[in-house]
Amino acid sequence: MNLTLQQDGASDIVKHIDLEVPHNEKRVLMHSCCAPCAGELMEQMLANGIDLTIFFYNPNIHPKREYEIRKNENIRFAEKMGIPFIDADYDVQNWFTRARGMEREPERGVRCTMCFDMRFERTALYAYEHGFPVITSSLGISRWKNMEQINDCGERAAEHYDGVSYWTYNWRKEGGGARMYDIAKREAFYAQQYCGCIFSLRDTNEWRESRGREKIEIGETWYEQKLT
Ligand code: SF4
Repeated sequence: MNLTLQQDGASDIVKHIDLEVPHNEKRVLMHSCCAPCAGELMEQMLANGIDLTIFFYNPNIHPKREYEIRKNENIRFAEKMGIPFIDADYDVQNWFTRARGMEREPERGVRCTMCFDMRFERTALYAYEHGFPVITSSLGISRWKNMEQINDCGERAAEHYDGVSYWTYNWRKEGGGARMYDIAKREAFYAQQYCGCIFSLRDTNEWRESRGREKIEIGETWYEQKLT
């Protein structure tokens, strides 16, 4: 279904999918990892009349400058869409403590399970304390991620709290994966070049060097530039 809605302070939002929130709930707390991944979820949930709040808790992102850029991009879009944004702690030392011994694990391995667990545990706790019956995440829309791994972590976090469910919707479906990039280009979002942690930065740079490419420069790549 395509339906154009007018939102205060936002551009026209096109509804592409009919969403069914678990237990027909209307209030959702969405863990967001970054603006490019979150954009499609934000637009579709708003177009479906869902009472959405964004929860930004990503102590994995390193260095701090990269973290601030990703967070501020998400705040910029949330403000434009009129969606409440919860800015949670950047307790990066806790993340490094939990990652100890996993420094050389590959992406999608046990370090990533720990990383998703940590972020969803905080999201589920906040949902429980603030009366959100449903949590979900933008993490699964990326084709670089293992959806099953993310859903397992989300459900594991939610099951600790009565009245909180993790919504396992596949946001890549029905063109969601493509619209994610369309929105990122339209909004000229910052285009991060690695997953987020210092180990993914190291591994991506090693991969680039092995192919004769330049190392990643923090804060230098934006979707509008990729269009030209
Ligand atoms: S690669 Fe990404 S998901 Fe995995 S631990 Fe690092 S930041 Fe977390």
